[in-house]
Amino acid sequence: MSIRRSALAVGLTASLGAVACGATTTTGAVSPAPIVTETTPAASVSASPSPTPTAPPEFTSKITKVTRDQVKYSWRPGCPVGYDDLRMITMTYWGFDDKPHTGQLVVNASVAEDVASVFKKLYDFRYPIKRMEPVDKYQGDDYASIDADNTSAFNCRAATGSTNWSQHAYGLAVDLNPRENPYVEADGSHAHSNADDFVDRPLKKPGVINAGDRVVEAFASIGWGWGGDWTGTKDYQHFSKSGR
Ligand SMILES: [Zn+2]
Repeated sequence: MSIRRSALAVGLTASLGAVACGATTTTGAVSPAPIVTETTPAASVSASPSPTPTAPPEFTSKITKVTRDQVKYSWRPGCPVGYDDLRMITMTYWGFDDKPHTGQLVVNASVAEDVASVFKKLYDFRYPIKRMEPVDKYQGDDYASIDADNTSAFNCRAATGSTNWSQHAYGLAVDLNPRENPYVEADGSHAHSNADDFVDRPLKKPGVINAGDRVVEAFASIGWGWGGDWTGTKDYQHFSKSGR
């Protein structure tokens, strides 16, 4: 009995180790194996705990309701959607460091599933994203969020250069890698100096979105348009349900 218990314990340790390996690059949980090898056939299981320790985890996403506290700065009474009509997507994204990360995006409840399906595609083809935090982390300051190269969606604000609500105020627009994909005025000017090298298109650099590429196609698969297709002003970071 004691041998069997020991084998079970080691087997459990090994499988827990294998889970940890999926998330990191360590190859732990191998050390108990030699002890078991001499005592029980179960050893063969624990002796090869993780044949693919470096394989990145699959994309995951979780959609949850948004609390008032989570949109303390970015939502206020009078916004065109109630915060109870918003959802938090907590999901995997691929980083510029070639590693998986977990980020959060606040969107309209009506598009949460669709948007998550787009980000699964981006993850699966390893499109790198610099940062993904709700704009509340920046006190709702769109300029600060963009300057930090933050990918975000909901923000109750007017459209740039307008008094009308932005599509972001409805949670129906996403800004993706805003430094690599700046908002460029018709005269070529732009507001963020850290985006100087990313104004022209086409441009082959990591995270840069070009006309007709697979990022644009991924959003088009849920019917969303790209700001890079606008005439005059170009908003290369911007995807929205309405196309505006
Ligand atoms: Zn936008």
